[in-house]
Amino acid sequence: MADRYLVPCQCGAQIPVGVHQAGTEIRCQCGAELKAPPLRKLRELPLEESDAVETPGANWSVRKAVASSLLLLGVLLVAIGVQRWSVLPTVPVYSAELAKQNFAKQLEDASSSDLYRFWINFEMSLEDGGFKPPEVDVKGFYEDRREAALNVVYALFSSGGVLILIGLGLFLTAPRS
Ligand SMILES: [Zn+2]
Repeated sequence: MADRYLVPCQCGAQIPVGVHQAGTEIRCQCGAELKAPPLRKLRELPLEESDAVETPGANWSVRKAVASSLLLLGVLLVAIGVQRWSVLPTVPVYSAELAKQNFAKQLEDASSSDLYRFWINFEMSLEDGGFKPPEVDVKGFYEDRREAALNVVYALFSSGGVLILIGLGLFLTAPRS
């Protein structure tokens, strides 16, 4: 698009004038007719900022800023996700041998009143239909913790991924200027 220079009218409007119009009669939107300055003088006037060129450029820089921020935020979320993932709580492996040892140690360390209480419980379990070791769902506790932590990781990965995709989409669908 050819450059156009802004010729001021006495009404205050600026008339865009192409170089081919230098020295010719031009008409302002107010109706006044005036003579466009010769080419040498015309070139000293401010250039018209062309909407057709400037607006997509401005949109593009805003879009680029938004896209970059989204990409950055997305990468950050995924990075936090990777970090969280690397420190996931582990579920201890259940070992009957280890449980037996712990139980034996508890018996050794127990006071006489502890032992009495244990005996009462033991008797009650017997009456309830046989002795069962106390059910403490240690494995379930760790599994729940691990699952909650994994859900946070998944949320970070998916939201980060969505942001990255939107950012890339903004970059890829950008108008070529
Ligand atoms: Zn005018």
